[in-house]
Amino acid sequence: MNLVFLGPPGSGKGTQAIRLAEKSGLVHLSTGDMLRAAVSGKTELGQKAEGYMTRGELVPDELIIAMIEELVKAGRLDGGFILDGFPRTIPQAEALKDMFAKHGTRLDMTILIQVADEEIHARLRKRADIEGRSDDNDEVVRHRLEVYREQTAPIVEFYEKEGILTEIEGEGTPDEVFERLVTATA
Ligand code: AMP
Repeated sequence: MNLVFLGPPGSGKGTQAIRLAEKSGLVHLSTGDMLRAAVSGKTELGQKAEGYMTRGELVPDELIIAMIEELVKAGRLDGGFILDGFPRTIPQAEALKDMFAKHGTRLDMTILIQVADEEIHARLRKRADIEGRSDDNDEVVRHRLEVYREQTAPIVEFYEKEGILTEIEGEGTPDEVFERLVTATA
């Protein structure tokens, strides 16, 4: 099964994607994790991406698309996957569609985890306290939510038109959300 997870920052999509990957054996690929590793490793990509990430902006499409293209070419997505954090823009969604068409990969389902804005702010503040992520302070959080609304939310409609969008309610405990997710993907 080939899945894409969508949802605003703080929707819990990362946590849920990891849990579903553990249960199902699908490969979990988080572009945020890959970029943070590139930043820590001081790779060329990491150096280019760091400023955007700290400001809560999206890393330019061409860098991210090239990163995903390498994974596709290397066959990392061939045994079933959960893409978490990609695509994040319409050009990324279109590039993914082209890459998959060439590679013979089909996207089965796009899962949108829905959470109200107020709940998201509360969760992100908590995460900032616990994890100390440099992009979780209040101002950057606000900016990341704006970026989500402006650049990422339009891809919900993109996948709706493709007929592969499933929405799940992201409020409640992580266990409750996971149960909904398992039902939706069964
Ligand atoms: P995340 O962990 O998914 O919230 O990603 C953390 C940061 O990495 C984002 O705020 C962006 O700066 C960057 N990032 C992750 N995925 C993408 C993507 N698909 N396109 C552009 N930037 C991304």
